Amino acid sequence: TRQAEPYDHLFKLLLVGDAAVGKSSIMLRFTDDTFDDHLQSTIGVDFKVKMVDAGGKRIKMTIWDTAGQERFRTLTSSYYRGAQGIMLVYDVTRPETFDNLSKWLEEVETYHPGRGREVVKLLVGNKVDKERVVTRAQAEEYARSKGMLFLEASAKTKVGVKQVFEEVVQKILDNP
Ligand code: GDP
Repeated sequence: TRQAEPYDHLFKLLLVGDAAVGKSSIMLRFTDDTFDDHLQSTIGVDFKVKMVDAGGKRIKMTIWDTAGQERFRTLTSSYYRGAQGIMLVYDVTRPETFDNLSKWLEEVETYHPGRGREVVKLLVGNKVDKERVVTRAQAEEYARSKGMLFLEASAKTKVGVKQVFEEVVQKILDNP
């Protein structure tokens, strides 16, 4: 039998947001360093595991993907249970995915009532390799008003992807 790798912290991180914004692609870029232009949304993975080192600690991350469930416009409570970090993803080329963020934030609040401060939230504007419609300033302002961190990324070109996970982990570690 294989020996389980030891670790100091176990973090559950979630990817949340409208269908096709690139949640699976961000996860797969980070965990496997792969990208597929024609990713099949139906082939959903529940979660992937990644070990990282931060601040001299070994961190085991379980990164959860919605496996297409967001198409029903709501995720199950078991998806949210025990999460320390939530990445809210929108597509910078599709403003409706940005407008729907308030709906996703409401759902996050439902599953972490009054505990918003304990859950690290990071807003991710994905697909910056394409022609953007949602501006940086717009998203920055929104993130600030909702107490979220903010980063732009491209799962396709890799820009910003590693930083997304590093910032979330760092912020969780910094939490009192
Ligand atoms: P999900 O439904 O939110 O998990 O989105 P997917 O990861 O399945 O991505 C939806 C589509 O967008 C796929 O065809 C991906 O190849 C594409 N995609 C994802 N991220 C990017 C990106 O950063 N840039 C570009 N150009 N396409 C992307």
